[in-house]
Amino acid sequence: MNTRSQQLFERARQFIPGGVNSPVRAFKSVGGTPLFLRDAKGAYLYDADGNRYIDYINSWGPMILGHAYEPVVTAIQRQAASSTSFGAPTELEVEMAALIVEMVPHIEMVRMVNSGTEACMSAIRLARGYTGRNKIIKFEGNYHGHADSFLVSAGSGVATLNIQQVPGVTPAVAQDTLTAPYNNLSVVEDLIDEHKGEIAAIIVEPVAGNMGCIPPAEGFLEGLRRLCTREGIVFILDEVMTGFRLARGGAQEYFNIQADLVTFGKIIGGGLPVGAFAGSRAIMEEIAPAGKVYQAGTLSGNPLAMVAGYTTLKELYNHPELYARLQQKTSYLVEGLKGVFGIGNIFSQINHVGSMMSVHFTEYPITDFVSASGANNELFKKFFHAMLNRGIYLPPSAFESWFLSDALAQEDLDRTLEAARETMEEIAA
Ligand code: PLP
Repeated sequence: MNTRSQQLFERARQFIPGGVNSPVRAFKSVGGTPLFLRDAKGAYLYDADGNRYIDYINSWGPMILGHAYEPVVTAIQRQAASSTSFGAPTELEVEMAALIVEMVPHIEMVRMVNSGTEACMSAIRLARGYTGRNKIIKFEGNYHGHADSFLVSAGSGVATLNIQQVPGVTPAVAQDTLTAPYNNLSVVEDLIDEHKGEIAAIIVEPVAGNMGCIPPAEGFLEGLRRLCTREGIVFILDEVMTGFRLARGGAQEYFNIQADLVTFGKIIGGGLPVGAFAGSRAIMEEIAPAGKVYQAGTLSGNPLAMVAGYTTLKELYNHPELYARLQQKTSYLVEGLKGVFGIGNIFSQINHVGSMMSVHFTEYPITDFVSASGANNELFKKFFHAMLNRGIYLPPSAFESWFLSDALAQEDLDRTLEAARETMEEIAA
């Protein structure tokens, strides 16, 4: 008997390439059929067959408050009754920008877009326009969305599907993207020396979340900051994952570091499609119509998206204690899993920062793309499916971070650890 998800996946493949609208959803690296989801509330997802799951993906990060969070739902409903789109300025956009500037250190102005990809793509164009230089440096296994310049040694689905060179990205574009291993400052220094005066920007995930969860090594972000200041390079922190997740002010606050530009996505839209980029007035006023670096969007600042994002950010702003709570929940889960893997004599590396975490099955520390790629994917697959069978919804690739939500209760964490215990027994048998 086929499940409803299996039937839907079969039908989806007739009409949608690979049956999904974003590659990692297809379960390619773990095998099996992706769950087709029907609804969600708090920490739980319900699939098309009516099964319940504890959610550790949370829409790949946005749902930090849990699913169908009442104030967000109400705000969207109220706004929808008034208008779903104007394509003209609104007071809501101004309040949204002001709230972001209040929450995030070192920024004075913000431009709203519709996704993290757009945010990073626009930030790079701005850095190029501002400096008059062409090249950028990014890190292996970091993912900044699917704009052409970023699909070089990228993480996330590009790594999951092991696409070494993305067809459609021209060599002319690719040659302006230089890459270095994550957490390796000396390679960055060498690249800068080799391309003196040519580097417009360094873009980095302050915590790499697209090859599992990899924290920055001590001094790495500070070293990049120093090099950028010395060389007149725009330092871009891609905070699409870390923004409003590590702290109200994101990685800049968490690590006490200053970027020239920051990019946002995920939480900033409260579950609706939103991105943003932000920085000092001096840089941001290069953007059209204040300046000449062109950037636009029919649905940018869309009222539904703004009200979902604003309501979410306001909750975070008003309840900073939530971050300590999320961190405690994450530590509890991490320590519990370490215990479970220890009993099974399974080599594992569990990295975590704030409420982001990941599990790699290997005895070696996971510090960059090469070490992440060396982990035991066969074991990850088994772990993933055994957990899924027990109602625990984990990212279907070891190249993705887990995201915890504030809706997770103690009993959910304990149920997850119980499932991990059973899983390890099943794998050992
Ligand atoms: N930057 C980072 C760090 C991301 O994790 C992602 C998506 O996962 C993006 C950019 C792209 O964002 P979006 O998928 O909203 O285009």
